[in-house]
Amino acid sequence: MEHDVTNKLEKKERMKIQRQVMPQQDPIERGKNFNEVPFGLNEEQAIIEASRCLECKKKPCIDGCPVEVDIPAFLDLILEKDFAGAARKIKETNSLPAVCGRVCPQEEQCEIKCIVGKGKNKKPVAIGYLERFVADYERENNLVQLPKIAPPTGRKVAIVGSGPSGLTVAGDLVKLGHEVTVFEALHKPGGVLVYGIPEFRLPKSIVQAECDFMAEMGVKFESSVVIGKTDTVDELFEMGNDAIFIGTGAGLPNFMKIPGENLIGIYSSNEYLTRSNLMRAFDFPTYDTPIIQGKNVAVLGGGNTAMDSVRTALRLGAENANIIYRRSEAEMPARIEEIHHAKEEGVQFHLLTTPIKYFGDDDGKVQKMECLKMELGEPDASGRRRPVPMKGSNFIMDIDLVVVAIGNSSNPLVQSTTPGLDTNKWGNIVVDEATMLTSRKGVYAGGDIVTGGATVILAAGAGKVAARAMHKYLMDEVKK
Ligand SMILES: Cc1cc2nc3c(=O)[nH]c(=O)nc-3n(C[C@H](O)[C@H](O)[C@H](O)COP(=O)(O)OP(=O)(O)OC[C@H]3O[C@@H](n4cnc5c(N)ncnc54)[C@H](O)[C@@H]3O)c2cc1C
Repeated sequence: MEHDVTNKLEKKERMKIQRQVMPQQDPIERGKNFNEVPFGLNEEQAIIEASRCLECKKKPCIDGCPVEVDIPAFLDLILEKDFAGAARKIKETNSLPAVCGRVCPQEEQCEIKCIVGKGKNKKPVAIGYLERFVADYERENNLVQLPKIAPPTGRKVAIVGSGPSGLTVAGDLVKLGHEVTVFEALHKPGGVLVYGIPEFRLPKSIVQAECDFMAEMGVKFESSVVIGKTDTVDELFEMGNDAIFIGTGAGLPNFMKIPGENLIGIYSSNEYLTRSNLMRAFDFPTYDTPIIQGKNVAVLGGGNTAMDSVRTALRLGAENANIIYRRSEAEMPARIEEIHHAKEEGVQFHLLTTPIKYFGDDDGKVQKMECLKMELGEPDASGRRRPVPMKGSNFIMDIDLVVVAIGNSSNPLVQSTTPGLDTNKWGNIVVDEATMLTSRKGVYAGGDIVTGGATVILAAGAGKVAARAMHKYLMDEVKK
């Protein structure tokens, strides 16, 4: 081993250790397959990386974590080679460490607060890599332990939606002895984790393992049940549920509303990714899900969804995979790592560019896209500089597949079928942030349906707050 970390190193020695590099698939190779891109750290690397922690008194990394994982404590357990113990330490506040270790924007959360990363050319402790390492270690070595489940309380809870917010509420409430059923509209649980984020970033077996673990704890899953159609929220109460959590996410795709947008070959990112991920179009011929495989592909947008779509198109055979984004790279909401991966794989970035019109062939298939160049003006309401079209900068791109990934809104189904449920002007459910209680007694909500499209850890954090308040409500106000 390069560094002796079995005994703690002096602080100045620790500061000399370089951040470990995550081994990953070769960019050219991985552009042709759907296997996970990074391989994960090995034990030796994990111990070296954990030894970079300076154990500062204020522990700012914990403040950077929306679910307040005790990061220094789990790093300490890694140094003691108690990797499963480290995973359990994380799970005290975060039920989905193998997921969060892979997809959380640590660079904007815990890692940006890490003092090891302060200063020129300094890099923070790779907290995300380590979270992933211990969670994988625990699962792969069959060391996952069922937590203590409290005796049955006799209270019943229905969760609508099985994304990270719903799964977190389910896990927390089942541990407290409540009878929990998760109702999911799709045929598999996991929300965006299964239908949106591709296999090469988050293997579906990992999400399935998390759901299996919940089922082992006693959570019941009812798939292919659309609340608002199959049953309403009020009917869930009539079925004997004492409290309900709504975690239906933000799954309604936005479009640009420009001429030609209904041509064949123009997908919403939701449809495109759902076909590839959940319906496994990428896994042909084992699955025969139809999907258009473009050669010249344009993906509109600059978020994680856009990066996932363009990298999927590349793997499905695109010869020219393009990102079209109306602002500059600095304003892109995607994780830096995902932008970097997309570039490494050969994706072309057309920045400060927006489409204004599509042209189709005689069969109604998209063939060309007219674009305009943009320049950045004054900041808008989001604080980002507003893109302003440059007159006369029109140009045409040959295109046979477009994926529109410019954001999602909330699906109005549950709101419109639940009388008395207050929503804001975007159709998101209004809650009291301290409890996630909605305007309806016994009905709580959290995740993207409340905030609009956000992140996995914020959805999980909202689930934690809701579970705490729901438990109190169930025990104090629901008489049995
Ligand atoms: C492609 C993509 C990539 C992303 N990448 C990242 C990333 O790298 N890192 C990150 O932190 N975040 C990422 N996000 C955002 C993150 O995934 C979401 O913020 C998070 O999943 C929201 O969780 P949620 O529980 O609110 O809802 P969701 O995950 O959206 O789950 C909601 C679930 O509710 C179900 N549902 C909806 N309506 C009903 C109904 N009426 N009845 C029953 N069930 C219903 C849906 O089918 C879905 O399964 C990404 C999002 C997308 C779309």
